[in-house]
Amino acid sequence: MPPLQMTDNFEAKGKRKNLVRELRQKGITDEEVLRAIDIVPRHLFMDPAFLSHAYVDKAFPIASGQTISQPYTVAVQTSLLKVKKRDKILEIGTGSGYQAAILAEMGAKVYTIERFRELYLKAQATLTSLGYSADFFYGDGHVGKPQYGPYDEILITAATNEIPSGLLNQLKIGGRLVVPLGDNNSQIMTLVQRTGEDAFEYSSHGLFVFVPMLKGTVNGK
Ligand code: SAH
Repeated sequence: MPPLQMTDNFEAKGKRKNLVRELRQKGITDEEVLRAIDIVPRHLFMDPAFLSHAYVDKAFPIASGQTISQPYTVAVQTSLLKVKKRDKILEIGTGSGYQAAILAEMGAKVYTIERFRELYLKAQATLTSLGYSADFFYGDGHVGKPQYGPYDEILITAATNEIPSGLLNQLKIGGRLVVPLGDNNSQIMTLVQRTGEDAFEYSSHGLFVFVPMLKGTVNGK
């Protein structure tokens, strides 16, 4: 028998239904996003100490001093991306891997980068055990992954003051990039649509708080 926290169960499924209801009440309307949140077992991405909180609409600590994003935040970012099946998506900040699993559940081809080796390894193991495929990279997301681009969508799940120009260049024309832009205290969820080779349109979608996007990688525990 796998340990309890490594299985899905009726109680967790019921809690996910409630979470989906709560997200609808908070204004999330994208049915594909809600379907993915209903299916992906968020509790399997969390530290056992927080298992009972897995379906509370809050961010929680994971390893390496980072956080798994709040479900509402995941829902807003994913809705802004307008994911279609087989879209190629680059995620900066794998963290727990939960957001990557949501994108994979929606049928996207996911490339995800994490600067903490410990998280990169753990997220990869979690998604594999759940049967989701994604391409995992250990590195600094500021440079992206040009060799696999250009991407239909790029998702940054850490706070930054400035969008790295290399990432904008890895976006397809017609593509969408979602990023929390701001200082460490709070950020404006920003959608950038690439409308031409050198043309980018920006729009704002509310205030959020993320852990910062930092330079370099961390190899130790
Ligand atoms: N998407 C995650 C949320 C993780 S929080 C989830 O679903 O759980 C943000 C993550 O971004 C952290 O794990 C942090 O280590 C990572 N991060 C911060 N700066 C980064 C960078 N320059 N490159 C790659 N990952 C980075």
